[in-house]
Amino acid sequence: MKNIVILGGGAAGMAAAVAAAEEAAGRARVILLEQNSRVGKKLLATGNGRCNLDNQTISPECYFTSDPKAMAKMLQAIGAADPLGWLEQHGLLWRADEAGRIYPYSNQASDMLNLLLHMLEKAGVEVRTDCAAASVEAAANGYRITLSDGQTLAADAVICALGGSAGPQFGTDGFGPQLAERFGLEVQPLYPCLVPLKCKKSQVSGLAGIRVKADASLYDGGKLIRAESGEIQFTDYGLSGIAIMQLSGMLKPNRLRRPEISLDLFPHLSEKELLTLLHRHKQAMGKVGAADFMTGLLNYKVGLAVWKSLGLGDAKRPVAELSKEEWQALACGFKNWRFTELEDTGWKNAQTTGGGIALSQLQTESFGLKNRPGLYFVGETVDCAGSCGGYNLHWAFGSGILAGRHAASQL
Ligand SMILES: Cc1cc2nc3c(=O)[nH]c(=O)nc-3n(C[C@H](O)[C@H](O)[C@H](O)COP(=O)(O)OP(=O)(O)OC[C@H]3O[C@@H](n4cnc5c(N)ncnc54)[C@H](O)[C@@H]3O)c2cc1C
Repeated sequence: MKNIVILGGGAAGMAAAVAAAEEAAGRARVILLEQNSRVGKKLLATGNGRCNLDNQTISPECYFTSDPKAMAKMLQAIGAADPLGWLEQHGLLWRADEAGRIYPYSNQASDMLNLLLHMLEKAGVEVRTDCAAASVEAAANGYRITLSDGQTLAADAVICALGGSAGPQFGTDGFGPQLAERFGLEVQPLYPCLVPLKCKKSQVSGLAGIRVKADASLYDGGKLIRAESGEIQFTDYGLSGIAIMQLSGMLKPNRLRRPEISLDLFPHLSEKELLTLLHRHKQAMGKVGAADFMTGLLNYKVGLAVWKSLGLGDAKRPVAELSKEEWQALACGFKNWRFTELEDTGWKNAQTTGGGIALSQLQTESFGLKNRPGLYFVGETVDCAGSCGGYNLHWAFGSGILAGRHAASQL
């Protein structure tokens, strides 16, 4: 009996195992190896425990890669495999929120995992947990996998679904890309993606825990790199929230020299309209100091942080004292509040991995290596990282299905 071995029991590995077993229909044994004591550990943490498993609007713009052309073709192949439809056929009930983000109907990541466990069992996949792969080598009739306890396993096809370096607490330590390097493959440098950002501490002092709706723009010097809208969360080290996480993926690959984030706290008003509003508010509030002036405008701590960053004085300074130029500066500061000395907060806080195995080495339709039949790399290990919104799991499930089906069809 032929063997198809899948390394890694995350979203991509589980989808690959089920798809391979279904396609093989008894012609091959499908074995899934996972180094954790259970499969799907990371899946349980996705979407804040709700598992945002896909999105109604998938497009290449939602992904970071150094090879957009190859990625767009692969994304099309994944679209044709229709991971959501495939899961639905296996029993998934789902619902979408107002932004098109798709969740299990129960809003529980544990239900998503239970469904996948059921699918693995029904398809007859042999799941081995507490089982870490240490190496993979080409052998006479396929591949030889050596486990960390020294045992070996022969495989006719190997699907590597080992994840990247993001979230090492879930079992991912960059072994997938390292394995690819051992095969002489080109690997694009890895970087933490979808990660909160540190900034100059004094710029967020006293703001930890506050959330505001704003437009966030990433600049390098004077050049706009990318803009996002959404909730910004202040932390004691810097900035978080979906808009910031989306921008974080642009830092490393673009080698930004002087990255800065600008927050527009009044995105629906022009600076002129905001100035008019500030004057109206001054009339309505009467003789007040800066702190009281912020009431009704925005969180007063946030308002005061902007006020102080502009050197307008302390919280008690009467707003009636402001000169025409200072009112102008305040309106400008609310629309262009700058944060400097940006740095990502590391792998532990990252939701996904930028960089990875260069896409040019993989077959578009199967994620199999072009020059090594029977060896596949899927999911987060390859040079494609999605934005927040279900795009990473769409890629992981879809690439797993394509590789699993192809591996079984070639035996
Ligand atoms: C907190 C958090 C929240 C997220 N939320 C979302 C979300 O809501 N929507 C979304 O689309 N994406 C989300 N993501 C990203 C998404 O979870 C990942 O991109 C996706 O799970 C990648 O799937 P994968 O199968 O490629 O890799 P992983 O899920 O990382 O799986 C790889 C598996 O390989 C195993 N492994 C590693 N080395 C070995 C070895 N040597 N031998 C055996 N096994 C090994 C690991 O233990 C792991 O189980 C989130 C990520 C995090 C960290």
